Amino acid sequence: MSYENSIAALSPAAAEFVKKKHQLFINGEWQDAAAGGTLDVIDPASGRVFTQVAAGEQADISRAVSAARRAFDEGEWAQMSPSSRGKLLWRLGDLLEQHADELAELEALDNGKPFNDARWGDVAFSYELLRYMAGWSTKITGQTIPLSSGAPFHAYTLRTPVGVCGQIVPWNFSLMMAVWKVAPALAAGCTIVLKPAEQTPLTALRLAELVQEAGFPAGVFNVVTGNGETAGAALAEHPDVDKVAFTGSTEVGKKILAAAGGNLKKVSLELGGKSPMIVYADADIEKATAAVASGIFYNMGQTCTAGTRLYLHNDVADRVLEGLVSYARDLKMGPGLDKSTQMGPLVSAEQKQRVCDYIASGLAEGATLLTGGGSWGEAGYFVEPTILDHTRNDMRVVQEEIFGPVLCVIRFSDAEEEDVVLQANQSIYGLAASIFTRDIGRAHRVAKRLKAGTIGINTHHVVDPALPFGGFKQSGWGREMGWEAIELYTELRSVGVAL
Ligand code: NAD
Repeated sequence: MSYENSIAALSPAAAEFVKKKHQLFINGEWQDAAAGGTLDVIDPASGRVFTQVAAGEQADISRAVSAARRAFDEGEWAQMSPSSRGKLLWRLGDLLEQHADELAELEALDNGKPFNDARWGDVAFSYELLRYMAGWSTKITGQTIPLSSGAPFHAYTLRTPVGVCGQIVPWNFSLMMAVWKVAPALAAGCTIVLKPAEQTPLTALRLAELVQEAGFPAGVFNVVTGNGETAGAALAEHPDVDKVAFTGSTEVGKKILAAAGGNLKKVSLELGGKSPMIVYADADIEKATAAVASGIFYNMGQTCTAGTRLYLHNDVADRVLEGLVSYARDLKMGPGLDKSTQMGPLVSAEQKQRVCDYIASGLAEGATLLTGGGSWGEAGYFVEPTILDHTRNDMRVVQEEIFGPVLCVIRFSDAEEEDVVLQANQSIYGLAASIFTRDIGRAHRVAKRLKAGTIGINTHHVVDPALPFGGFKQSGWGREMGWEAIELYTELRSVGVAL
């Protein structure tokens, strides 16, 4: 599908949105960036610029933070009942579902991901999460606490919204990463300034239109598009922001932390990963192969929980690898907007180069190429699904986050069964991990030893609105989703009443 055909394939609603002038959404109004700058938005399937968005900078962040501050401290939102907040969130979820195809098309065009993944992954998860969090709005409670001293007080805790939240999100699941942060913050009664990734700003802007249509008061939700070093950094360091929530690379996460130090705002971080998958000899090989394949290749490997390191028992290695190679070779590559596509381009030229460099580095360090190995197609940022066999824990490809469709295979034998868990834990990251075995005792034993925030047993990607999600070690701080996300967006007061 050529670029012209991709654009022509857009539904009228998505095409109309793409053609709009894309401004900043501040205090319920669409505004140009103060300095008047714009950023190009590129179709990764063709490498062509298809629209521009406003390039917000420090002055725009300040305006947005002031609007969020006013909305938090005074006016309708500050007085709104939990039940009314919940209804607004539910309505927003309904609007996302009504516009799901259009949102999925925008994501497929902007990020490159296959339309069906965007529709039934990103967008469906987003509206389900909004509804899940709508339910928490009316259930945010404290406790009455009997005092250990026996002092004559009636003591209790009160949970109240943390305040103005800066939320900075990446490009790999643009809408969904935004909703992971926006939904609990709104359920808790916070106000928001959202900074989407410069590569994929469109769905955040469409989300702002739907927030407006749902009826949220002005200033509760603001979107400032722009670069990380300008708009993102200004948001992370702004003294009137009470909390910053960030999803992105570990490297930038450390900068966010430093920037947040000025006013010691609360910080939550969802960062990189290098997640191991361990396949034991007694695993159900067919099921394990399918789970491992989607564990690495879903979203072109641009998934923070991607299973990038496969620890594979020698006895089943040939069968599993044969299955994985045929899965990889059968994946239909093409633009995300072509509904038959199973594997789209990577998000940017830079990302493509980075992934190709990692493949070359793995081969130079002695890995064996089983399939893939480089770029695909004449135009756009496609990289073939790639499997590197005979890798070792000391190689760069096994230690560093590649963020592309590259699987590193490390074989083990019966004698190394204990050691394989240690090897799996040998990483600066700890986001996800999975184990494939029919031995239920081993599954639970290993699940307890793996240092990761999410563990799959006979499956890899485990995410749900109700399940806390986050990382050990340098994969982050805090847990999103579930009740734990409400804790991230609330402060706890202890109150004592003298009797
Ligand atoms: P990135 O860190 O480069 O950028 C993420 C966001 O931070 C973008 O909006 C960017 O504009 C902004 N940013 C960049 N520099 C900044 C600065 N100095 N100050 C403030 N903001 C700044 O990450 P990316 O390349 O967009 O995304 C890929 C990374 O995200 C991977 O490392 C991946 O593992 C991680 N990720 C983690 C999770 C998770 O839940 N743990 C989920 C998705 C992605």
